[in-house]
Amino acid sequence: MAVEEFKDGVTIRIDCEKCDGCGDCVEICPTEVYKLVESRAAAPNIGECIECCACVEVCPEGAIEHDAC
Ligand code: SF4
Ligand code: SF4
Repeated sequence: MAVEEFKDGVTIRIDCEKCDGCGDCVEICPTEVYKLVESRAAAPNIGECIECCACVEVCPEGAIEHDAC
């Protein structure tokens, strides 16, 4: 199962099977795009994304796909 968020041409896809809820993406995102919801990452503030790719790079499970990264 995956969560997909879209906004203004940005797509973030989070693989819920891979995500272990470590919170690294929440901590590293400079614009607070991510939140943990029931111990899994979600990206409710995707409209704030500046496409820096830090979330994709930091995720230890390879759970995040970003169309710009
Ligand atoms: S960094 Fe990866 S494994 Fe950790 S909460 Fe975010 S998506 Fe899940
Ligand atoms: S690409 Fe950068 S700004 Fe966008 S969600 Fe990931 S860490 Fe946040």
